[in-house]
Amino acid sequence: MKKLINAEILDNKCVAGDIYRLIVKADMDGKPGQFIQVRLPSNEFTLRRPFGIAALKDGQVTMFYRVVGHGTEYLTNVKVGTEINLLGALGNGFSLSEGKVLLVGGGLGLAPLIFAASELESVDVLIGGKNAEEANLWQSEFEPLVDKLFIATDDGSAGVHGFVTELLPDVLRTNKYDAILTCGPEIMMRRVAALAKESNISCQVSLEKRMGCGLGACLSCSIDTINGRRKICKDGPVFAAEEVFYAQN
Ligand SMILES: Cc1cc2nc3c(=O)[nH]c(=O)nc-3n(C[C@H](O)[C@H](O)[C@H](O)COP(=O)(O)OP(=O)(O)OC[C@H]3O[C@@H](n4cnc5c(N)ncnc54)[C@H](O)[C@@H]3O)c2cc1C
Repeated sequence: MKKLINAEILDNKCVAGDIYRLIVKADMDGKPGQFIQVRLPSNEFTLRRPFGIAALKDGQVTMFYRVVGHGTEYLTNVKVGTEINLLGALGNGFSLSEGKVLLVGGGLGLAPLIFAASELESVDVLIGGKNAEEANLWQSEFEPLVDKLFIATDDGSAGVHGFVTELLPDVLRTNKYDAILTCGPEIMMRRVAALAKESNISCQVSLEKRMGCGLGACLSCSIDTINGRRKICKDGPVFAAEEVFYAQN
């Protein structure tokens, strides 16, 4: 049974550029890679908005969101103390393995990887951000949780100038990993999956697609996989890379 929860907003503020951190009081069970369908507190919005879980502890849930459209813009003005309705935790989540794990995230794809880092024993992270301000945000979130942290920024204002995928071959040459978990733009994840395959490392990717219900009923987030049609909201959002990126690898 999926849980509908009314959750009080404890914090909702801008933490870098157009990225906000939303913390709510909610007694929820969940695992890294799962997401929450957030009902915006206005009749203007019929569909809930899906956000990954960045942290789940002490009766609090943390999410990060980038302002990209009408709904997320509206959310920035929702005040602390307001109750919002959550549906979750939804989806399958990552399979967390033993051994050394590398997390590779781009932009808001880093948010669910924070939760994964907090549950893994031995983990490094490769952070991809637009600029130093965004990279600093993710760095401060991951630093207490990981062994090594590698940074790439689009404008070169922090870490290596370029995409995470340009830095990844070096990271894989100089470190040994048993698994890679990745979340971010699809083009980035396809390249990460291809590099993981070349190095014989298992890779899980967390996909994102516009979705309606989040429960597997409306089929709007269906995709083709080697195992036939799958729904990102219910069968995913996490898939083995070879199940979904078979044509490119
Ligand atoms: C499983 C999952 C996890 C996500 N986790 C995060 C996260 O942690 N942080 C974050 O900032 N964003 C995340 N997203 C994307 C986020 O849901 C969209 O950016 C957001 O719904 C946009 O809402 P909007 O009203 O501002 O945009 P609009 O473009 O005005 O939205 C219109 C409609 O499209 C849907 N939509 C728009 N963009 C997306 C998208 N990329 N994916 C899915 N639906 C979309 C909205 O739900 C809405 O129904 C996630 C998406 C999915 C599918």
